[in-house]
Amino acid sequence: MRKLISAILIVSSFSSFGQVNPTALSYGNQISATELKEYLSIIASDALEGRKTGTRGQKMAGAFISNHFLEIGLAPPVNGSYYQSFDLYSAAPSKVYVKSGATQFNNFSDIFYMGNADSNGEVATDLVFVGRGAASDYNQVDIKGKAVLLLQRDLTSFRTLRSTANLAREKGASIVFIVAESSNDDYKKFVEEMKGFVSGGLSLTKPEGGANKGTFVIDQVAAEKLIGTTFDQLKKIAAADSTKKQLKKIKQGKISYNVTIKSNSVKVENVLGFLEGTEKKDEIVIVTAHYDHIGTNPGEDKVNNGADDDGSGTVAVMELAKVFAQAKKDGHGPKRSMVFMTVTGEEMGLLGSEYYVQHPVYPLANTVVDLNIDMIGRSDPQHKDKGDYVYVIGSDKLSSELHTLSEKTNQTYTKLAFDYTYNAEDHPDNIYRRSDHWNFAKNGIPIIFYFDGIHEDYHRPSDEVSKIDFPLLTKRAQNVFYAAWEIANRENRLVVDKK
Ligand SMILES: [Zn+2]
Repeated sequence: MRKLISAILIVSSFSSFGQVNPTALSYGNQISATELKEYLSIIASDALEGRKTGTRGQKMAGAFISNHFLEIGLAPPVNGSYYQSFDLYSAAPSKVYVKSGATQFNNFSDIFYMGNADSNGEVATDLVFVGRGAASDYNQVDIKGKAVLLLQRDLTSFRTLRSTANLAREKGASIVFIVAESSNDDYKKFVEEMKGFVSGGLSLTKPEGGANKGTFVIDQVAAEKLIGTTFDQLKKIAAADSTKKQLKKIKQGKISYNVTIKSNSVKVENVLGFLEGTEKKDEIVIVTAHYDHIGTNPGEDKVNNGADDDGSGTVAVMELAKVFAQAKKDGHGPKRSMVFMTVTGEEMGLLGSEYYVQHPVYPLANTVVDLNIDMIGRSDPQHKDKGDYVYVIGSDKLSSELHTLSEKTNQTYTKLAFDYTYNAEDHPDNIYRRSDHWNFAKNGIPIIFYFDGIHEDYHRPSDEVSKIDFPLLTKRAQNVFYAAWEIANRENRLVVDKK
């Protein structure tokens, strides 16, 4: 019995090693380090100013990619264009203050506003103290339609901050003021960290304040002045047992506040090209990378070149497109259709891929796979001098066949060490949800995400072409190529057997 099992295992493990397909190999070998370098020297040059979404540098990159698609003979799939254009919206607070009598507190110094709801002028309101803002605290005081002030132990957890503010709104507060019990240093640190997020962000939908008027995080001095008592007294009352109903002891404050929001829209583009399949034209294999990056650093004239992030993925998509298009010209075109897409807005929150899945150019139901490449040109410190590797993420999440195929093509052709560290769904870095494939996976489309890890130049001006390991980039691009070749040419569509 035992012997028989091992005999079966031997047979099945043999059959899991594929035979080299000489046609696939001859095209895989055309993926060229020289061409990858040529494209990347343009995509990641200083002239493109860090390719921030919506800027002229990014548009230059988009023009370069779309001209490449034209030159190699991909079809323009969006009404005769390679661009899928749409608007993104920005909203930034301009004039924000809170007043108590003649004293005015200003945004980014004593107070910090989080939200995007314009108050339409100055609003006068009562301010009610609700202790630490626990559910039971709201039984002691009437807050309907009023502003509330609540204490929080510290400002380290954004999640706690948000849930406490949400509870206050559910209980009927018109606007929420939060102050840290820990220290004003804690408050200052919080403001420094959060500043960048509230200004310069972009979203897919027009910001509308709605019922959520936002949250003010304020320092202890402002809290004392607005509510009209000492901070020690507030702490004492907040710490008291809620059955003793101490909150009423704090008199309501009379305050007024103003929030003026300036909003803008910016036109952005996903860039995609189409290669029609020879047999299964309706089934689509998508290869993606994001061509946006984070722009320049303010103050110093330093371009975040994003050679690895995600210049490396962008040029890999361009090169794969070129080789597949060549194969088709030679009579070896893929059976399934292929879409090569470089998306915008990834660094702003996976916006370009989100827009694509909301407005798919080809039906998602016919989309077989998304192979997403985001950073494949470097090695992280964990792999220094340890041989050629790539992090593989998500291959087993929706389709067991995809995972087996990816392992098999790797063992047959490129033989990289596949590192599955980031594949764990509970990995604290949450990499499975941090690039564009996630928008496809959310829609039940099998994905593989190829990634080289977090290195010392991540999101810095030093992420430059000179630091790229081109032989390794080439090998990884070939690895994606062989998986794509197999998925596009195999008889059966990948089966989705997991959810
Ligand atoms: Zn990035």
